[in-house]
Amino acid sequence: MKITKRGVLSVLVVLAFAGMVFFFAGRQAAETGKRQELHQRSLFAMDTFFSLKVYGAEAEEGLKTCETKIKELEHCFSVTDPESEIAAANRMGGGQVSYDTYTCVEKALEIGTKTDGALDITLYPVLRAWGFTTGEYHVPEESEITELMQYVNAAGVGTTVNDGQYELILEEGMELDLGAVAKGYTGDCLVEILKQYKVSGGLLDLGGNIQFFGAKPDQTAWKIAVKDPFDVSRQIGILELRGEGAVVTSGNYERYFVDDAGVRYGHILDPETGRPVESDLASVTIVGGTGTESDGLSTALFVKGKEGAIRFWRKYRNFGMILVGQDGCVLVTEDLAPDFELNGDPGKIPQMEILYGA
Ligand code: ADP
Ligand code: MG
Repeated sequence: MKITKRGVLSVLVVLAFAGMVFFFAGRQAAETGKRQELHQRSLFAMDTFFSLKVYGAEAEEGLKTCETKIKELEHCFSVTDPESEIAAANRMGGGQVSYDTYTCVEKALEIGTKTDGALDITLYPVLRAWGFTTGEYHVPEESEITELMQYVNAAGVGTTVNDGQYELILEEGMELDLGAVAKGYTGDCLVEILKQYKVSGGLLDLGGNIQFFGAKPDQTAWKIAVKDPFDVSRQIGILELRGEGAVVTSGNYERYFVDDAGVRYGHILDPETGRPVESDLASVTIVGGTGTESDGLSTALFVKGKEGAIRFWRKYRNFGMILVGQDGCVLVTEDLAPDFELNGDPGKIPQMEILYGA
């Protein structure tokens, strides 16, 4: 066989081309692999366990930034840390605060107004008397509750922005607790951070507050369990959701105490009485667009009870809701029903009803 120069050149060109194809295909495969890799972080923060699961090439960097942000927000919101921003504001009758503390207060006040005061961040003096923020539980005297209720007045919280400085103004004796929205607000911040990195999707569990965004590499829906309020080791069902949103549940089964007479006191207070809510609901699950709104609404609609929650949902209809009654009945809003599957082994949960708009 005669080997010509042209022949050698052609072979070389073909080989070089094939090499390039292999090189770029390999790189793309590696990139795709990276995009699909699951990165996880578990940590204890805000008095609960956080578990962050994120897919994407820059997920590790994103998670590191999230950890820093969680610590920063804890320093803003923790009422039990005397060094926190909210604790300082409570001591000083307000003062300058960070953008995050300010925004979280503003959003909580908004939800408070929208829910006719069912969410009230000025309940803190009363909550403290019950020991719900420290775990040193006790039933206060009626006179003590009446005395402390004079400081509960969300309409009296002042918020101003001057030259980019954020400020809170509290009335004499007034103190704030952002516990009902802090985890939801934190979740929203983490989702915003992660979106700035090359992250294709994530499922964040902030002590039971779930936030999801983007998609899983296999494009299947996010599966989110809803706990059985009568037995937290079980679940009443599974939500299968896509896109972006939050799933937040409130109930008095999470944090409560029982006195010597066997009476049970839950950690969600009725702002009208200053006493634990005696709700006909065992739990309220909200599926909404943002963590802050879903967290605030789950607490507020638990306060409102079944009829109040239904009325509120029929008025707004911009979120989904699962109510579990004290009687064990499960009520699921119509928009959510196709995405919710009741547990096959329902325990105390007898049936599911679909809630329709008016
Ligand atoms: P968790 O934080 O346990 O998941 P929630 O989001 O429902 O539950 O918030 C409950 C917390 O909010 C309580 O522990 C208390 O600090 C505070 N809180 C209780 N009742 C109210 C209320 N009516 N309005 C605002 N905050 C409340
Ligand atoms: Mg809440």
